[in-house]
Amino acid sequence: MVELADIIRQRIALAGPITVSEFMTEALNHPVLGYYRRGKPLGAGGDFVTAPEISQMFGELIGAWLAERWTALGSPRRVLLVELGPGRGTLLGDALRATRAVPGFHDALEPHLVEIHAGLRDAQRAALADHVTPRWHERFADVPSGAPLLLVANEFLDALPIRQLVRQPWGWAERMVGLVRESAKFAFASAPGKSPLAALLPDAVRAIDRFGSVAELSPAVTSLTSEIARRIAADHGAALFVDYGYDSGTNGDTLQALRAHKPTDVFEAIGEADLTAHVDFAAVARAARQAGAAVDGPTGQGDFLRDLGIETRAALLRRTASPAQAEAIDAASRRLIDPDQMGTLFRAIALRDPSLPPAAGFT
Ligand code: SAH
Repeated sequence: MVELADIIRQRIALAGPITVSEFMTEALNHPVLGYYRRGKPLGAGGDFVTAPEISQMFGELIGAWLAERWTALGSPRRVLLVELGPGRGTLLGDALRATRAVPGFHDALEPHLVEIHAGLRDAQRAALADHVTPRWHERFADVPSGAPLLLVANEFLDALPIRQLVRQPWGWAERMVGLVRESAKFAFASAPGKSPLAALLPDAVRAIDRFGSVAELSPAVTSLTSEIARRIAADHGAALFVDYGYDSGTNGDTLQALRAHKPTDVFEAIGEADLTAHVDFAAVARAARQAGAAVDGPTGQGDFLRDLGIETRAALLRRTASPAQAEAIDAASRRLIDPDQMGTLFRAIALRDPSLPPAAGFT
């Protein structure tokens, strides 16, 4: 069988080094062999664990968040409930179970899922069967417009491609993926000259003059954010993104590969390892505001979940739990909110049409 690594190798051999963004796009989204077409991302037998897979409380609290936004919108009779990259459907399943009693909410929901992995689409169908029958799309752009939008995306933006710049003595150059001539192994290389992308870096990042420093940009993240913000400004609605990343400046080189819960070399298991980058939340906020949405946050996942009442929710669950279950509930909530676990590195940011009041979770 043809290997994805060989397809990429051949492309580089024929046409020269490719950008980090092109490399990520091939590795993750290649129509047949890409990681997000056929990999096994989630769960104990997969490559990583996400917040909704750690505890039902995560999806339940986001359900309450969505129901509050729907109420703030004036309880419209039709609203598009969109999730980007729903994984195994766990978040939405918990969110819908937790909001069954909100009068009129479920009847108003028209669910649309953006997912490119056929196997995960099956898992999502099964997880949501008790609540809704969603429609699936390859891209957010294919989600119909014309009704208010409620959108949620957990650990989705980190899977979108980034471009990298590396500081050279003569300025910022684009970081490329090429081949070592003798071994045909993948290696990073610097494009010649200065990259015009440097003009898009925030001033403080562009001013870094330590040679070898790496800065990142994600046109994929900012254009998607703009598109969602434009939709929200035109049709009304709100969106919530939770992911790992940073609020200002740069985190340097954050491209990372993860396989079976362990970091691996980004060139090691192409198509069989997850490949991600930290999300630049300042860039997300800028793109959203420029496109006409108001922005709440970013804030740490710990503060966000505490503000939504995770401690009360945990106490309630503990009341009917065995001692072992109670211990597991405590461990899960610590994992979600502790600053040295997911509480600070993971950030939440919300978009809304400017006529809505600020969202819960950001006070
Ligand atoms: N939100 C889930 C899963 C996160 S993993 C959770 O929190 O558990 C990333 C998800 O996004 C997976 O479902 C993956 O298949 C999907 N995905 C990744 N890149 C995508 C793309 N470009 N378009 C659509 N879906 C994508």
